[in-house]
Amino acid sequence: MAFGTESDGVPVTALREMAERWLDPDAPGDWNQALMDLGREVCRPRPRCAVCPLAPGCAFLRNGAVPRSSARRQPPFEGSFRQLRGRVMRVLRERPGASLRLLASESGEPLERVAAAVVALAREDLVRAGPAALAGRPQGRARLAG
Ligand code: SF4
Repeated sequence: MAFGTESDGVPVTALREMAERWLDPDAPGDWNQALMDLGREVCRPRPRCAVCPLAPGCAFLRNGAVPRSSARRQPPFEGSFRQLRGRVMRVLRERPGASLRLLASESGEPLERVAAAVVALAREDLVRAGPAALAGRPQGRARLAG
C-alpha cells in the first residue's frame, strides 16, 4: 500500500507513531487479527458503536459522523465497464446482430474494451457471440440472446 502524507486529515507520521505505540512487538500477528476482527464484526458499514472498544476515543462517533451503510458509494458510472456493457446491449437491441467493429464505432469505445464486454455478456448468456467475436476479431459478430 502506498502512503501519502495524510490519511483522512491525519498526518501519516502521526498514524505510524500511534500504530507503533499500540502494536505488541511480541505478537504483531494478534494485533493484525484483532484489527481485522474489529472491522469485520464491529466497525462495519453499519457500525455497532455500542459494543465497540474504541468508542471512547472514536472521532467519527464524537463528531456525529458515523458512516452509514448508504454512505457506501458505487464507483462512478461514467467510463465504467457497466456503462460500456449497457452501450453494447443498446446497440444490439437496435439490430439483429453486429460486428465488434460496428459495436465499437456505435458505442464510441475502443475495440478491445468492446470485445471484453461482449465476452462478459456472452458468459452471462445475455449475448450470443461467435468464435471470432470471442477472440476479439473486429469482424466477429454478436447478437442478443433469446
Ligand atoms: S465507535 Fe468508531 S470505531 Fe467503533 S464501531 Fe463506531 S465508528 Fe467504528
